[in-house]
Amino acid sequence: MQVADIHPSKPTTLSIVVPCFNEEAVLHATWDRLADLLRRLVAAQKISADSEIVFVDDGSSDATWRLIQTLISQGHPVSGIKLSRNCGHQNALLAGLSEARGDAVVTIDADLQDDESSIEQMVDAFHGGCEVVYGVRRHRHTDTWFKRGTARAFYRLMEWLGVRTVPDHADYRLLSRRAIEQLMQFDEVNLFLRGVVPLLGLRSSIVRYDRKARTAGESKYPLRKMLEFAIDGITSFSTSPLRSITVAGMLLSVGCLLTAGWAVFVRFTSPDAVPGWTSTILPIFLLGGVQLFCFGVIGEYVGKIYMESKRRPRFFIEQSDSAHAGGSSAIR
Ligand code: UDP
Ligand code: MG
Repeated sequence: MQVADIHPSKPTTLSIVVPCFNEEAVLHATWDRLADLLRRLVAAQKISADSEIVFVDDGSSDATWRLIQTLISQGHPVSGIKLSRNCGHQNALLAGLSEARGDAVVTIDADLQDDESSIEQMVDAFHGGCEVVYGVRRHRHTDTWFKRGTARAFYRLMEWLGVRTVPDHADYRLLSRRAIEQLMQFDEVNLFLRGVVPLLGLRSSIVRYDRKARTAGESKYPLRKMLEFAIDGITSFSTSPLRSITVAGMLLSVGCLLTAGWAVFVRFTSPDAVPGWTSTILPIFLLGGVQLFCFGVIGEYVGKIYMESKRRPRFFIEQSDSAHAGGSSAIR
């Protein structure tokens, strides 16, 4: 089936990017449901007939790539990207975004836990002028209590560190072509999309949906990957952990100075002072505080180097206009 067979073309070309890591168990059902959705949207003249689905195989060791190739060989509107090894969810998404041709691109997980029918509302919001549309979960009933708890703690921590993210939003979102172009200007290796997309400052809206259980297969985010993701997210957006060393060093230095003063006081005022006690304890306290403070100062500079090395774009111009634009400003 070619989507082009279904309906004459309409302006918005939609690409749906689907990262897949060992997803042979769900891939066929996912294709069926997404193809149905594309058909519906084309029939409703909301998207053009040359819309596509971009499957990104993130170094799967099962039949995922073979299934993707079969869909392509059957002439479906499918593109396939095969990464040379498992590069991780975020990189698979970026690979898909860089290859997608659409005016609007939706990213969605292969297990369709995120209700794909909300894509229609995302497209409507895009037509209404939004360049970023976030899919936001109404609830997380289908996640384990452990996942819910750790996710809540992680997002609280991010908020506390001053990182702006959209609550209950993962990587189910629509991006306009302009949003993708701006996103590609972020050069850093560990791109934490949930933190970076809100930095674009483009007009955005949210679409709420109910998260379902995985249809088949298992979660590809074991505890180890979740931890890596959380640590990458925090450290790529914030040098606060380094700053906390400086603050701890300062506090400890003050505490140590006071303790040192007290040790000297005891040495000269108390007849019971143990000989050698003051000269032993004094350098321990003083050096401990000063060392931690020095670590903190070094950390501050390392943090600055780290942030500079990212070479993030400083600004995005939303609009620029001049009298020349309309051709009416000729010098008379
Ligand atoms: N995924 C990926 N690379 C990875 C891990 C996961 O491309 O290294 C994909 C996976 O195939 C799925 C999406 O990322 O499409 C989210 O993974 P999963 O559904 O297993 O995560 P969960 O919903 O359990 O958080
Ligand atoms: Mg999932």
